Amino acid sequence: MTAICKRLCPAALRKIVVAFVLVVLAAPFSCAQKISPGEQKLLDYIDAHTTEAVALLEKAVNLESPTENLAGVRAVGAVFKNELAALGFNASWITMPPEMKRAGHLLAEKSGTKGKRVLLLGHIDTVLHGENFQRRGNKAFGTGTSDMKAGDVVLLFALKALHDTGALKDASIIVMLTGDEEDSGDPVETSRGDMIAAAKRSDLVLSFENGGSNVATIARRGASDWLLEVSARTGHSSAIFKPSMGDGAIFETARILSQFYETIRGEQYLTFNPSVISGGTEVEVKEQNLTTRGKTNVVPARVVVRGDLRFITAEQKEAARAKMRAIVARSLPGTTAKITFFDGIPSMPPSPGNYELLRQLDRVSQDLGFGKVVGLDPGERGAGDVAYVTHLLPGLDGLGATGGGAHAKGEYADLDTLPRQIKRAAVLLYRLTR
Ligand SMILES: [Zn+2]
Repeated sequence: MTAICKRLCPAALRKIVVAFVLVVLAAPFSCAQKISPGEQKLLDYIDAHTTEAVALLEKAVNLESPTENLAGVRAVGAVFKNELAALGFNASWITMPPEMKRAGHLLAEKSGTKGKRVLLLGHIDTVLHGENFQRRGNKAFGTGTSDMKAGDVVLLFALKALHDTGALKDASIIVMLTGDEEDSGDPVETSRGDMIAAAKRSDLVLSFENGGSNVATIARRGASDWLLEVSARTGHSSAIFKPSMGDGAIFETARILSQFYETIRGEQYLTFNPSVISGGTEVEVKEQNLTTRGKTNVVPARVVVRGDLRFITAEQKEAARAKMRAIVARSLPGTTAKITFFDGIPSMPPSPGNYELLRQLDRVSQDLGFGKVVGLDPGERGAGDVAYVTHLLPGLDGLGATGGGAHAKGEYADLDTLPRQIKRAAVLLYRLTR
């Protein structure tokens, strides 16, 4: 003991204390070193231009652009087209056939020789309209703020930072801002054809839909619709259940729906919802609406149900459809039923490539001192445009602004997190395109 103490004191102890102090002092510097000088320039640009970013968000929100307002969508598109052209992008507006009744999309492209070829996605249409930009404290209220004009601003200002610091010069980037994400035009082969072509010229896709503080989207569920039509023999109510009459269309529908509920419900990420139902003697189908006529002394002749089906993989969707078809085929006496499925937005299943992009974003976030980023539970968000291309290349979504109230009145984006989201995106793009 004495020998050890003699060896440590006092000169050796002093050395240990000095070394400890040096380690403590060096800690912040070793952290700062994780951000390169080139990356630091991006952060400085973003800090100096946050007010400008908020002003652009105000301008974009005050141009109303619900999907069906084609002129409004094009006006927002023109704002971003000019901004991207000023950064050296070859920017153009892609029109859709008039019968599709969609505004079209903004496509901006620049080619380079270094790093990964990146496709950046956003959308400029909104579901609702009517609420102008209004700043209250650190929140920006207004239709389309968080979903997703603030995300478009994050995307643009990350590129502006790269351009200003000379880091965009050799990068290969395609920006696509769609004008009909909230209600994609039919047929999707046409309305998403340019996006799929852009994905084929890219190595990965980043999408700027509204995000969370420390989560990113590595998987999104797909959405599809179904239509159940049940027919039955009809006549005097007192004859129901007789072999000559059968059980009526409403009991058959009840059987089908309760068997869906009992045997298909509960699988992770799979949901099905009989959303609208109408039954009786006659049912009229007019677009999304169903109306019916009938009397209590008549066995019902017809039921129509419209529903949706959400899924995490195409296999899960097909397996659920097969189970639903089998249940529909087992008709009660005197009834027949038919179910038809309609494809909507595909799913974005979690893939190793998506997880690798998440790992890189997490590294960026931690290097910036913004904490860990983890994958968002796919059950926590709806379907989105990115899923049209993630079967072709790895992707990450939810890189946009944080906020709330999407698709509802009172929608808002958080302005205090806007610089953080732009910095994460800019540094990630910087590293991907070296
Ligand atoms: Zn959206």
